[in-house]
Amino acid sequence: MEFEYWWLLVFPLFFALGWLAARVDIRQVVTESRALPNSYFRGLNFLLNEQPDKAIEAFLEVVKLEPETIDLHFALGGLFRRRGELDRAIRMHENLLEREGLAEEQRLRAMAELGQDYLKAGLLDRAEQVFGKLLETSRHGLARTYLLEIYVQEKDWQKAIDAARVLEKDTSKPLNADIAHFHCELALLEAARGNADAAADHLKQSLAANRQSVRANMMAGDLDAAAGRHEAAIADWRLVETQSAVHMALVVDRVLASYRQLGRLAEGVQWLRALYGRQPSPDLFNALYLAVSETEGAAAASQLAREELRRNPSLRTLDRLLEAELVNAPPEARELLQVEKNLVASHSQRMMRYQCGSCGFKAAQFFWRCPACGRWDSFDPERREGEG
Ligand SMILES: [Zn+2]
Repeated sequence: MEFEYWWLLVFPLFFALGWLAARVDIRQVVTESRALPNSYFRGLNFLLNEQPDKAIEAFLEVVKLEPETIDLHFALGGLFRRRGELDRAIRMHENLLEREGLAEEQRLRAMAELGQDYLKAGLLDRAEQVFGKLLETSRHGLARTYLLEIYVQEKDWQKAIDAARVLEKDTSKPLNADIAHFHCELALLEAARGNADAAADHLKQSLAANRQSVRANMMAGDLDAAAGRHEAAIADWRLVETQSAVHMALVVDRVLASYRQLGRLAEGVQWLRALYGRQPSPDLFNALYLAVSETEGAAAASQLAREELRRNPSLRTLDRLLEAELVNAPPEARELLQVEKNLVASHSQRMMRYQCGSCGFKAAQFFWRCPACGRWDSFDPERREGEG
């Protein structure tokens, strides 16, 4: 098909229209704001030329010269916070609040902004104070949401539970999964103080808030195992499969350890083989491999790794296979196998990571609450091979 050259005329036409539209807007702005100082237009000009830093300096001058430009104060304050320039954001909002004759609605808005500045700056006491004052106002919903965030950061779990319960009623947004975690955190504290009964009580409350709380059953198992009740611990941990089968990757080592304590590791391996059939995953494979080499020897472990490598090829499985081969290898083959194994192991171990499904944060350790984005239950319970 012949190229239609007249089409080329269409693009300049679009540009001309866009330019015209932009000019019309600017004219309108000019006529509407004749009263504003020149620096306002310099600021606009910098913005249009994509020079935000210079635009901000120009707008700051406007704010000094024309204190009644309240919306500009808010716009700049919010911008500073987003850019992480928290000193400037705080100064901007504090200046607004010190002003006499500020309308009530704007005063509340400035307080809410200032509270968010303090929170982002890690000044939790001051943030708590500001949002505490806002609780008595029309902004109570927002205040309570931020207060909950502050209590979580302060690890004040009882206050967090109380705030979440009120917030649940106010907004009808379910927070029962969060409340279950707060009870688990309290259980951890009690267990660390040696108060096993108080800890167990919090775990019951955790499950009452959220029957699907995997963490509560995992911790109940930990308490039972620590008290030498391995049979009960195994029962607690096996319940996790009915709640969330993928989380078994986190408990499988504990289950096997308790079977070992009971002198029934072979029974544990049998259970794990069946679990692995229902829920194949790299972490479960790894646990199964180790348990099989311990109870059934290197030949059985090598056989298991071979089957797995055919089904789900991965560096970690290859590492396991080389490890098993190494045990039975004749002396002349050992040196080369050892080199291969070291090479593969250094790669596979470096790349195994837990990852937050919400923000992508990666860690060698599993977290119930992402340390980067602060979300609960956002971590995948399975480690993955991946870059970096
Ligand atoms: Zn995250």
